[in-house]
Amino acid sequence: MRPFAHVRATSLEQAVAAARGDGARLLAGGTTLFDLMKLNVEAPATLVDISALPDLQDIAVSRRGLTVGALAKMADVAEHRDVRARYPALSESLTKAASQQLRNMATVGGNLLQRTRCGYFRGGAPYPCNKRAPGSGCAAIDGADRNLALLGTSDACIANYPGDWAVALVAFDAEIDILGSGGLRRIAVEALHRDPGSTPHIETVLEPGDVITRIHVPASRALRASTYHKVRDRASYAFALVSAAVGIDVAGGRIRDARIALGGVGARPLRVREAEAVLQGQRYTRALAIEAGEAALRGARTSTHNAFRVPLGVQTVADAIGIAMERA
Ligand SMILES: Cc1cc2nc3c(=O)[nH]c(=O)nc-3n(C[C@H](O)[C@H](O)[C@H](O)COP(=O)(O)OP(=O)(O)OC[C@H]3O[C@@H](n4cnc5c(N)ncnc54)[C@H](O)[C@@H]3O)c2cc1C
Repeated sequence: MRPFAHVRATSLEQAVAAARGDGARLLAGGTTLFDLMKLNVEAPATLVDISALPDLQDIAVSRRGLTVGALAKMADVAEHRDVRARYPALSESLTKAASQQLRNMATVGGNLLQRTRCGYFRGGAPYPCNKRAPGSGCAAIDGADRNLALLGTSDACIANYPGDWAVALVAFDAEIDILGSGGLRRIAVEALHRDPGSTPHIETVLEPGDVITRIHVPASRALRASTYHKVRDRASYAFALVSAAVGIDVAGGRIRDARIALGGVGARPLRVREAEAVLQGQRYTRALAIEAGEAALRGARTSTHNAFRVPLGVQTVADAIGIAMERA
């Protein structure tokens, strides 16, 4: 780890100004940033510590939906009584992430910006990685790619987005407030992460100095009858091999609204509208759910090491649809 300066922000405005500086990075819970600094993947000159900023830890549930401050702890949001009761996919995406100790430290804002767990990205030299060292190549293509992305990849990068919470947010049209040097703006969580293309090191649309301040999730009947279904190598404390956030609204025995997003298999959190369209207006059957799962995984680019995650993904989506149907 290299030496760095530490600035404790006392206001949001000060945080934005300080984070605009060369080599500055915001620090919230530190559970992923410190790891990357110890691995020399990230070497910020200055850490702008926002963890003590007041007013960004609120959790507000109303008839219109959920609003959470970016500094709210994962555990506090996951275990909030109303979030568990009204927004099961959101609560489950957080409880199935990391460990209790990490969830007690980590913030829901920092969670959105965690970086890939690709071993070549985190492992450093001698392996080329276009995300860590732009232009160096990608050791993962034809390498150890068992857990990496199958959808939305490029010839420059097949790293996957590892987080769970963003997948659930994308399924249910969540938005984030961002305070930057140009003032406050709001964007869809779905628009936050970028496809890797030829610049996989540019992962989000955030500009230097941008601070995520709040996350908004509109209430919907589909969200009320929702689930976050995560399949992993261990029953807990592991990243997703594949996951699905699904919400269903049924009227008159037919599916009136379906939301489906995929995790673990995408270069970014993926809303899969083709799969939602398969369910729209239909009566639920297991065969229909499988058809939706197949639509969700269509176009997957696989290798011998990771092809098993396509049928696994189809089953995961179908199982999640079945769980959401029971809740609808
Ligand atoms: C062993 C282990 C297992 C894990 N397993 C899972 C898992 O299964 N599923 C899962 O989803 N996650 C998992 N995680 C990731 C964990 O959830 C994240 O580390 C955590 O959510 C990050 O939050 P933080 O507040 O600690 O972020 P930090 O480490 O403080 O920051 C992370 C990044 O976000 C930026 N940032 C932080 N807050 C803001 C803000 N408000 N505005 C703009 N930028 C900001 C920082 O500059 C930094 O780049 C795991 C982590 C570990 C270490």
